Amino acid sequence: MPTAAVVSASAAAAPAAAAAAPPPIPSKGLRLRLQEGVYASFSADGQLAVEASPHDGEGLAGFAQRLCGDARLAPQVLEANHLARGARLKTGRLYHLPFDLLAAAWQLEAARALFPQDRGDATGWRHQVRGVGALRRENLWELSEWFTGKGENFRAIREYNNLRDEDVTQGAVLTIPSELLRPAFGAALPVPLKPYVLAYGKDQDGDYAVYRLRPGEALYSGVVVRFTGRIYAADVNALAVEIAHRSGIDDVTAIPVGFKVKIPLDLLQPEFLPEGDPRRKEYEASLRASSHFSNQVRAKGLEGITVILDAGHGGHDSGATLGSVWESLYVYDIALRLKGLLESRTAAAVELTTRDGDGFHVVDADVLPASRGHAVLTNPPYPIADPVVGVNLRWYLANSFFRRALSAANDPQKIVFLSIHADSLHPSLRGAMAYIPAARMRDESYGKRGAIYEARQEFRESPRVEFPWSQRVQSEGLSRQLAKQVIGAFEESGLPVHPFTPVRDRIIRNRSEWVPAVLRYNSVPSKMLLEVCNLNNDLDRRLLQTRGYRQRVAEAVLQGLLAYYGQSASQPAVRVARATK
Ligand SMILES: [Zn+2]
Repeated sequence: MPTAAVVSASAAAAPAAAAAAPPPIPSKGLRLRLQEGVYASFSADGQLAVEASPHDGEGLAGFAQRLCGDARLAPQVLEANHLARGARLKTGRLYHLPFDLLAAAWQLEAARALFPQDRGDATGWRHQVRGVGALRRENLWELSEWFTGKGENFRAIREYNNLRDEDVTQGAVLTIPSELLRPAFGAALPVPLKPYVLAYGKDQDGDYAVYRLRPGEALYSGVVVRFTGRIYAADVNALAVEIAHRSGIDDVTAIPVGFKVKIPLDLLQPEFLPEGDPRRKEYEASLRASSHFSNQVRAKGLEGITVILDAGHGGHDSGATLGSVWESLYVYDIALRLKGLLESRTAAAVELTTRDGDGFHVVDADVLPASRGHAVLTNPPYPIADPVVGVNLRWYLANSFFRRALSAANDPQKIVFLSIHADSLHPSLRGAMAYIPAARMRDESYGKRGAIYEARQEFRESPRVEFPWSQRVQSEGLSRQLAKQVIGAFEESGLPVHPFTPVRDRIIRNRSEWVPAVLRYNSVPSKMLLEVCNLNNDLDRRLLQTRGYRQRVAEAVLQGLLAYYGQSASQPAVRVARATK
């Protein structure tokens, strides 16, 4: 039990300042004016909402943008008001906006109006129970829905406040712990939420870190994925068992809030190790060294920039597959869409490492037809049969593109390499993540041998690659900056992003760690491998099978590239590009 719970329990027992406390909400409900045409409402059945009428001349999209913070929620606004698709809103009429649909600012304002005694403090949101009518009290379930978005959190709130049952007395003050709050209330706390705190200890089995499980957290994502960096299902499951055993947990599905989970120190990602630990120091030193390098090139409309696009897999290498969903088909489609955007909206030169068939055709369909026609565009091309040969020829080809672009541009920072993939991870994980090359995990010098390589011009131009340490460190720094811009653009466009460390400098799997070959032997200083989503996650997989999502991914990558070259989204590339072309 957290210490704070005791404090709030005693506060709950003390009568609140009676003079200032508002009367119970009438049992028929309550409507309070927030501003002209906008009301906070508390319905007879205990739902919080806002009711609002459109401004003169304000359409549905504008209305949804103003109240929900997103014009794309327009269909949900219609649905909440039992209106058919395409219906028009009438000025002067009030429309119902359920709490879940509201923009954070309106959620906060409505709650503050209805519960004027409420406030945030360092531990969470302090809610004074106002009660409803003469007969009914607020119950913990609905209270939990209002402030956390999930009724199921009522148990954690009950435990946190040392309550014996779901009864809450009028005038009592409860704390809704900060970790559980909806973003609207979390953002209103005076102290920003501490991300997490680890303590360290030692027992007969060795050194460990202790993490106290927070309400609503699962061992898999809350502990294993976050602190050990494992993301593949087999790894996550195995470590969850190991950590549960080490911590004395019998049932991983019923771990009490606040339980001390012990994580063996050697499983921790370096950034979570105690200060001064050699592994953490080495990690911090590499971050510091690579952070000295940042892209200095500013390019309006990407004028003078070469973008090398690599769609992962292809041909007989379908990559991650889930039923008929092949990674190779969907990432190639995204690469084509991105090529189209770059060529129509910017002045960048675009090179693709592979092609399916004779031309670059975007298939106008959600679910993509199977194809094994992809070849690596070396000279002569390589119809992809062996995945390893396919990957090696990609970096030979990328390096050849790089040499050619460099002789024209005369600045290595004007060239970027982007490999597009989709992951197959633990099903609880969602969203995009990026890999960049860790300087310490790349070879100084490397080259392939064999007839299949020697037959190709790109190999013969330069059979071996050499990467001195300084170059690898610089590449890590530039690539991290590039990847952060691209992931940042995903976040800005509302696309799902991996919850922990979305930019990673190596793959961790099966107790080994490596940099993907397509980055490892790649001469382009600014490079990244983008995993657009997790095919093992049902929601992500369904999204990937829609044209709209793939187009949005391509748009986000475009915004990330523009940002890397010093152009924010507010300076549209369109006009610039047309002016310069
Ligand atoms: Zn892949």
